[in-house]
Amino acid sequence: MPTAKKPVAHPDLAEVLFTGQQIKRRVRSLAREIKTVYGEGEFTIISLINGAVLFTADLMREIDNPVRLDCIRVSSYGNKTKSIGAPQIVHSLTLDIRKRHVLLIDDILDTGKTLQLVSRLIRDLDPASLRTCVLLDKKGRREVPIEADFVGFEIPDKFVIGYGLDFAERYRNLPCIGVLRPDRQSTDGWSAG
Ligand code: 5GP
Ligand code: MG
Repeated sequence: MPTAKKPVAHPDLAEVLFTGQQIKRRVRSLAREIKTVYGEGEFTIISLINGAVLFTADLMREIDNPVRLDCIRVSSYGNKTKSIGAPQIVHSLTLDIRKRHVLLIDDILDTGKTLQLVSRLIRDLDPASLRTCVLLDKKGRREVPIEADFVGFEIPDKFVIGYGLDFAERYRNLPCIGVLRPDRQSTDGWSAG
């Protein structure tokens, strides 16, 4: 008799941490947590691109408050699977956030340097309030003292891809989040075409 095989999400994944369904459920409950804090009021979402694009898009659609959206691009830094050194702002805000309530969204909180840098930039622009939301939190990796106000999932210190998160710009379109196989953590042999 043929045995039922578990569907493989992607051959380059060592393991799946969260399926698309699990992410969807958590995003929905995060939206409820956010709603409890903001009530019916308006706020401005600032999304860190590219990583937070999918998360932001899904989260926004679960929130029925009046919201404005802007994006900040921070340079990726370090090698491909570890963040080393200092992040830099590559593209900043377009909207005026003075006296506005701001919710800053990122894909993953790792050393904390990115969220710290962007939080400082936003605070300097005199918002009415600033809160932070990340889908994933690698608590054990923190190098600067910063925590997010809203966290989707805590994860161990493993390099993850999917649902917006990339390795050398690939895998952002995977619907699940998983750990990249160590033997795939190299771009040798990738073609540009
Ligand atoms: P931090 O400044 O907190 O060290 O790093 C945050 C950024 O590093 C994230 O926005 C993300 O771009 C990247 N990063 C950290 N850990 C991972 C990971 O496991 N997978 C991927 N794809 N990116 C990560
Ligand atoms: Mg990022």
